[in-house]
Amino acid sequence: MKLALHWKILIGLVTGLMFGYFMKIFGANAFVTDWIKPFGTVFINLLKMIAVPLIVVSLITGISELKDISQLSKLGSRTVILYLCTTMIAVTIGLILANIVSPGKFINEESRQTLIENFAGDAGKKIELAETQKSKGPLQPLMDIVPDNIFNSLSNNGSMLQVILFVILLGIGLVLIEPEKAKPVSDFFKGLNDVILKIIDLIMLIAPIGVFSLMAALMVEIPDYSVLQALIIYAITVVVGLLIMTYIVYPGLLKMLTKYPVGKFFKAIAPAQILAFSTSSSAATLPVTMECVVEHVGVEEEVASFVLPLGATVNMDGTSLYQAVAAIFIAQAFSLDLTFSQQAMIVLTATLASIGTAAVPSAGMVTLVIILGQAGIPEAGLALIFAIDRPLDMLRTVTNITSDATVSTIVASSVGLLKEPKPKEWNDKLK
Ligand code: ASP
Repeated sequence: MKLALHWKILIGLVTGLMFGYFMKIFGANAFVTDWIKPFGTVFINLLKMIAVPLIVVSLITGISELKDISQLSKLGSRTVILYLCTTMIAVTIGLILANIVSPGKFINEESRQTLIENFAGDAGKKIELAETQKSKGPLQPLMDIVPDNIFNSLSNNGSMLQVILFVILLGIGLVLIEPEKAKPVSDFFKGLNDVILKIIDLIMLIAPIGVFSLMAALMVEIPDYSVLQALIIYAITVVVGLLIMTYIVYPGLLKMLTKYPVGKFFKAIAPAQILAFSTSSSAATLPVTMECVVEHVGVEEEVASFVLPLGATVNMDGTSLYQAVAAIFIAQAFSLDLTFSQQAMIVLTATLASIGTAAVPSAGMVTLVIILGQAGIPEAGLALIFAIDRPLDMLRTVTNITSDATVSTIVASSVGLLKEPKPKEWNDKLK
């Protein structure tokens, strides 16, 4: 029987969760960690391995296909404005929900103490990590974007923005030189681009197994439910916010700014969403987001190859919404009342922090430390939300990549580069 890829991944996800659950009951946690989890790690590594080459090659190909530099600046400005707007909407929704629900008021003194005792160590590590990220001046982020050695940046998955800057310059150079000199270079990258897309198809063949392993490992590693109970209202607040973003705000934007059918859009990006959920990493999901958006939504490659890598690196609506709720939750748990201006400040810091958040699992917690510090909320409060962070991370990553896909569709439609897709089934492409 021939099943579509996203169904196979979904089956991997559900059976993985069930398998992990039963292994935990039978006390076979070590078996899962030693013999099952490594397959998940291999799958994530394969995706990450291909992410940097994909960004480099597809971005060069994309930009070299643009007619002139003014088209690039049009794309760039629309993308940045939309990314900033969606992030601000996300933080605002997070703050409004957190103020209405007041999840921090539901946590009693006893649970607070238990959580702080249990997770103080883990929280401490994140706080230490955040220390190293704290800026050394207002223009530090600007300096961080410009590398002094591109080969160092290329060998570091955390330096995505530096790579993007360099590759944009390379693409611009290609557009500006004489066409006959540029042609062999762009032809080379076009060929390489096809090879990389084929490698992604190959990697996706093992996606169901990778997802199965990741979910089984997650199940045996997750803390006991009793610790989570105190956090249920907080978790529900975050989830409601993420659902509003994913299923109301983005479809609303698509309806308002494009004529693209919303149902078709969600069907097209389903594999990327499931993968974001399973890997908790927008960067690892990027290769698949790219394929979904180009081949199934119909966004032309020159738009997708520019908008999506940038989005995976700087646009994290789900993360910033969660940070807003988490900040208020922790403040409330410590009986701190935040003033309106303190909360407005959170909108600003969370928007900026989402730019600096790495697209890897639980990176949002690290930048949350900076937001807490700015707002005068005890950073040790991070220990309160640790137990439930993983599932929320999975969900916010889905929102993050849905936002990237939405913005690329809107930008493509605004410049007339949204075409009727001719979808090929993933599995057919290997024949
Ligand atoms: N895991 C998220 C992502 O990769 C980042 C975060 O919120 O921790 O998109």
